[in-house]
Order: sequence, then structure tokens, then C-alpha cells
Amino acid sequence: MSQVVIDVVSKDYRVANETIAAVRNASLIVERSKFVSIVGHSGSGKTTLLSLIGGMVSPTSGRVLFNGEDIYTWTSDRLSEYRCEKIGFMFQSASLLPILTAKENLMLPVAFRSQRTPDGGHEQKAEDLLHSVGLSDKINAYPAQLSGGQQRRVAIARAFMNDPELILADEPTGDLDEETENEMMQFFLRMNKEHGTTVIMVTHNSDLARQTQQHFRMDRGVISHV
Ligand code: ADP
Ligand code: MG
Repeated sequence: MSQVVIDVVSKDYRVANETIAAVRNASLIVERSKFVSIVGHSGSGKTTLLSLIGGMVSPTSGRVLFNGEDIYTWTSDRLSEYRCEKIGFMFQSASLLPILTAKENLMLPVAFRSQRTPDGGHEQKAEDLLHSVGLSDKINAYPAQLSGGQQRRVAIARAFMNDPELILADEPTGDLDEETENEMMQFFLRMNKEHGTTVIMVTHNSDLARQTQQHFRMDRGVISHV
């Protein structure tokens, strides 16, 4: 599917008079259809790294290449298309809209992207994905009627709704119990294997990371190979 190259990327945040070096000279190659994980403590720069890859935060220096093209040389329209069409995001918080049901939350990006009403095919797909994450009986539930872990599973399903080439997963199993965490990991592994979706997962859980094809460490903004 997609290849991602992080080419000596740094990201500094400037807050008042202070500069925070969130990512420092990071280099990483993620080949097509690989499942890669990056393990690091809180504050090590994991979310910033995913935001850089996702076209949401531009680097202070260095390049982010998607299938060989530097995404930060693209127009904002192209970058927006990249975010909507190519990538499935699984944010650290579930980020569901409270006024929409689980199924509607999955279909919302479809409506936004194609600017048309999702059809029966999309509905079926949303239901199938919710079934895959073990939420067949919660398809029409609102976020407030779901536990934190169930909301997270809706967010995982939503990330796959647009058949993304690349999944960016930020601590995807954060507040799940161990059994559900393993089920979700199996779900990611299956989607990677069956659809060839490239997956980049950041986590503080090294047991999860060991199940992926390649894993790296991130410490105070620096990526190292393990
Ligand atoms: P992680 O996801 O590993 O916890 P982050 O990428 O969220 O790490 O944060 C890395 C560092 O950058 C931290 O010191 C954090 O406080 C800082 N940081 C993250 N986002 C911002 C921001 N938007 N503005 C200023 N500092 C930020
Ligand atoms: Mg984070």
C-alpha cells in the first residue's frame, strides 16, 4: 500500500520564550504493508510524530515522504485530500460526536469526504466494521451509552471506514482491559494482513509492540531501532 519515510525530521514547539524539541532528527522508513510500532513514555514525542506523518503539524526541519513525495510541499487542498482519502486516524482520545450513533460516527467522514449522503453500501460497511470490533449490539448506541473502551473500539472501526492505505494509531488500546486490548491488536494485525494496510502504531506498551513486524523506541524526541 503506502511507504512512509521520515527523513531527519525535527519539530520544535515554541511556547512563550521556551522552545520544546518534541521530535529530534528522527529518521524512519516504513515500507508498504508493514506494521510498525514505536514505544515511548509519555512526553517522548509520539503524538507529534504521528501528527507530522498525518499532515497535521509541519516539521521545523526535515522531510516527510509519502510514496516518495514530500507531503509538506503539497498545496493545502492536496494535504487535506491526503488526510481524508489515504489515512485512517485513531486518535489518543476516541473523539466521537456525541449527537451521532456509533454507526453514524463511522459514516460521518464518508459524508464529509464525498460531500454526499452515505448509501446503503456505507451503512453495511459501518455495521460490518462495528461487528468486527465486537460491537454488533451497539450499532445504534450514542457515545454516552458506551463505556470508554467501547467508544475507543468505535474509533478503531472508524479509522478503517475509508479503506485507508495507512493507519496512524495513537495508543489505540489505551484504556482497554487486557482481553479487549488483545482482541483489538488481533483486529489491527488481521486488517494489515488481509488488506495490506500499512500501520504505524505508537504505544507505551512494549508487549503490544512485540507483536508487530518492526518496533522502534522513542525517547525525548529521538527514535532508535531495537
Ligand atoms: P507523547 O505523545 O509521547 O506523550 P507528545 O508528542 O504529545 O508526546 O509531546 C512531546 C512534547 O511536546 C511534550 O513535552 C509536550 O508537552 C510537547 N507538546 C506537544 N504538543 C504541543 C503543542 N501543541 N504545543 C506545545 N508543546 C507541545
Ligand atoms: Mg501522545
